[in-house]
Amino acid sequence: MCGIVGIYDHKEASTLTYLCLYALQHRGQEAGGIVSWDGNRSFVEKGVGLVSDVFGNKGTLDRLPGKMSIGHNRYSTHGGSGKQNIQPFLYNFQNSSISISHNGNLINLKETKRHLEEMGAIFQTTSDTEFIIHLFSHSEKDSFEEKMLDAFRKVRGAFSVVMMHDDKMIVARDRHGLRPLSIGKLDDSYIFVSETCALDLIGAEYIRDIRPGEMLILDENGKRSFNIARENKKHCIFEYVYFSRPDSHIFGNSVDKIRRKLGKTLALEKPVSGGDIVISVPDSSNTAAVGFSQRSEARFEIGLIRNHYVGRTFICPTQAVRDFSVKLKFNTIRGVLENRKVVIVDDSIVRGTTLKKLVRMIKKANPKEIHIRISSPPVKYPCYYGMDFPSEEELIANQKSLDEIREHLGVDSLEYLSVEGLLSSTQMPKENFCTACFTKNYIEERKEEESL
Ligand code: 5GP
Ligand code: SF4
Ligand code: MG
Repeated sequence: MCGIVGIYDHKEASTLTYLCLYALQHRGQEAGGIVSWDGNRSFVEKGVGLVSDVFGNKGTLDRLPGKMSIGHNRYSTHGGSGKQNIQPFLYNFQNSSISISHNGNLINLKETKRHLEEMGAIFQTTSDTEFIIHLFSHSEKDSFEEKMLDAFRKVRGAFSVVMMHDDKMIVARDRHGLRPLSIGKLDDSYIFVSETCALDLIGAEYIRDIRPGEMLILDENGKRSFNIARENKKHCIFEYVYFSRPDSHIFGNSVDKIRRKLGKTLALEKPVSGGDIVISVPDSSNTAAVGFSQRSEARFEIGLIRNHYVGRTFICPTQAVRDFSVKLKFNTIRGVLENRKVVIVDDSIVRGTTLKKLVRMIKKANPKEIHIRISSPPVKYPCYYGMDFPSEEELIANQKSLDEIREHLGVDSLEYLSVEGLLSSTQMPKENFCTACFTKNYIEERKEEESL
């Protein structure tokens, strides 16, 4: 998963890119980068860490001049976490400059790679994103637009991308619209962002989403829209469950509204009779927990406190303190939990490690009973489209039954939201969503294990 930004025609393009990346920090905390274009050449700044670590030092943004820029927050799911894999990627190609930021995972690349290498392509990274550039540069079509369309038509899987090619900006989304991508305007400038919360931060007005299967080109001739492929909506439903920020609007709806509805539906489907309090695992399940409490007798309480200043790079002292990683992040409020029948609402269980440690911690606060409710169905299958879901072996719901998971966690009850409940909570046609990690209904067959 990643966050992407494009700013077209604004005198403070790189500063706006920085601010938008800051608002999209939740989509990737591993690394960040910005490429700018000043009308003659490209400039690039990249680094490991949070956006403020990479760009917050005085002078960094001054090295990114120009009225056009793109940015990227990295959350590595593919191609390893090496420095050469930090985006945006920047290439020089036939005396021109081309750069790209990509959110999503491409699939079925082996054959394409063989073909491209036969034509002389030399891959510089282990990232799937590079394929779009090679397919463009090796395209036999005549015009720039057709070469770009050719490249996007030849890849499969998930892509929301912003690119620059000298004075042009190119913005595109796969035909399923798997990952979000919105258009905003600030005065006469166009702003492209993964989520609308970034538009709010810079005071830009939301215009619309890039349509699934749409490519936009912006240059001195204006803004032109092209069709990559016929739209076949399959939005990632996990964006609503966990990934997107609740203050964003994605896929045509408010994340807060749908996430709250997930909690409400869960409370109706899997109630806890006689529960005293509902708590969330901050921050990811706050909204769903509020929704749950609105449809149950139990009141919403804050029983877990999260330390927000835990960076990704914190090195855990191995074995020194049990459950140290979770203790760094959370602590309990004993007065809230003691002697209460506690309902914990969490958004998802992936490997099951977080909740297991949390339950151990919560038990020390002496609650009467612990009931867990999950505002999504069991995650049983890997995601090929960019979410960090590991192999089947690592997914606890693939390996254990509901009862075994409950026992493993050591709680009084455990229930998940049903797939029907998940889909009905969106109040949109259910065919519009990908649910493969819950249902195994993949959008397209994955031909091979990718090892590029
Ligand atoms: P696990 O069960 O693997 O210990 O962690 C599940 C928790 O991590 C959930 O509470 C959820 O908020 C969060 N989570 C869900 N999906 C992802 C993901 O793709 N990446 C990360 N880092 N966390 C996730
Ligand atoms: Fe989203 Fe799950 Fe589909 Fe991946 S498999 S795109 S996480 S719904
Ligand atoms: Mg969580």
